[in-house]
Amino acid sequence: MSPGYLVHAHAGSRDNCTSQTVDHLFRECPRFGKLRLDHEFLCGHLGLSPYLLRSLMRKRPALKSYTDMVNSILSDLKKFNNT
Ligand SMILES: [Zn+2]
Repeated sequence: MSPGYLVHAHAGSRDNCTSQTVDHLFRECPRFGKLRLDHEFLCGHLGLSPYLLRSLMRKRPALKSYTDMVNSILSDLKKFNNT
């Protein structure tokens, strides 16, 4: 096994998300960076704070974007746990 392979394997390894906090999953986890970016972009466009419920509830599309993101993360985790 070459050193290059080890580096690659580590970079692509899962960060043990199932044992992480919800905060990690929704706000930090690199696995969901794309989903988070979409949500943050929309909220930025609407001038809302992407993780403050009180802020999200002011605009329906922002709230929907948040629940969509959460659902996508949760269904991905379920898939992950079933494999
Ligand atoms: Zn993670």
